[in-house]
Amino acid sequence: MLLKNCRYLVTQDARRRVLQGHDVRIDGDKIMGIGKGLKSTRGEEKLDCSRKIVMPGLVNTHTHLGMHSLRGKCDDRELLDWLAEIWPLERKLTPRQVKQNTLDGLREAIRFGTTAIYDSYRFPEHRLEAFAQTGVRGLLSSTVKDGETFKESAAFLGSIKNGKGLVNGAIAANAVYSCDEETLRRVIDYSDANMMLRRIHVGETRKDRFDTLQRHGKLAVEYLDSIGFLSQNCLLVHCIWITKGEIRKISQSGTKVSHNPVSNMKLASGGVMPLTEMLAEGAIVGLGTDSVASNNNLDMFEEMKTAALLHRHHKWDAGALSCQQVLDMATVNGAKCLGLEKAGSIEEGNYADIITLSIGENLRPMNDVVSNIVFAAQGMNVEDSIIGGNIVMRNGKLR
Ligand SMILES: [Zn+2]
Repeated sequence: MLLKNCRYLVTQDARRRVLQGHDVRIDGDKIMGIGKGLKSTRGEEKLDCSRKIVMPGLVNTHTHLGMHSLRGKCDDRELLDWLAEIWPLERKLTPRQVKQNTLDGLREAIRFGTTAIYDSYRFPEHRLEAFAQTGVRGLLSSTVKDGETFKESAAFLGSIKNGKGLVNGAIAANAVYSCDEETLRRVIDYSDANMMLRRIHVGETRKDRFDTLQRHGKLAVEYLDSIGFLSQNCLLVHCIWITKGEIRKISQSGTKVSHNPVSNMKLASGGVMPLTEMLAEGAIVGLGTDSVASNNNLDMFEEMKTAALLHRHHKWDAGALSCQQVLDMATVNGAKCLGLEKAGSIEEGNYADIITLSIGENLRPMNDVVSNIVFAAQGMNVEDSIIGGNIVMRNGKLR
């Protein structure tokens, strides 16, 4: 396939180049050439991009798509009250409903330009079918809280062959407050033995922080460090209520972080995730929407803008977080969070995970492409989506 005459090609390569009038050649599931005037071979599919922005597909590092039917069911509660109200509704969801929810969530995600997703919920086999049907790149886990759920998770993960196809497995401990140490150690061992990402929710509320301190005599990230949970293969979600010392442990261990500003603000988690401090320490941070029960959509463009606004406002500093840093979180760094080293940028040899945006009224004039992507674009500007070389959406229509 050949993407011809890209009006703007936002590569997100090491130099963060934005090219004009270039073509992109896709062969199989990879990007095989970038240049001007590439000749198409006979029968090769061509996509005219002369009126479009071409950029890497967005990476959503935290979702629970299985909850999709609960959008708008509980909008005015803070986390613990919200959980108490949502949990009885979740318990009623059947495997069939969870599969349908995951399909609906994936369709929304594709529509808004996401090409890779970390998704955790129950009934992983059914969700896997939804991923296969839509062709989205994914990292799937089912939540581990105890010995029973660990066994269920391991049984599912044993059936997935990592490195083959678009979907890989990950092992997800629910949270420090809901898992005992034995369970967390089993998650660590499983992740190490299978070279698989391990994930956990950390520091979402202030109560969570004080409870952990009381129970373990350590702050949450210190505690995770003491049992060996932190690693390059580890993703921490939320990390709002953490200290500078904990940030240092995150960056020294190469642990990744998923930042979910919309969900955190909607559930009134208080505090602001210390993102600028994390970036200053060199931590790799990606963006996530969390579920539509707490967001309430899967629009990563909205997530980017919200992240930029939140941290600038919080720091009284309009330069606290640049547009480029925000775009990095939603692309290259999000991909690193999921262990996808060959995604998140448009470079030869990388996966062909690419979206195009129509340059509609809200994107004119194009004084600064990256600024327009972060501050002016919306999910509905996305026109085409290619994942692993397959067109999953064309002209706004899903296949
Ligand atoms: Zn979550």
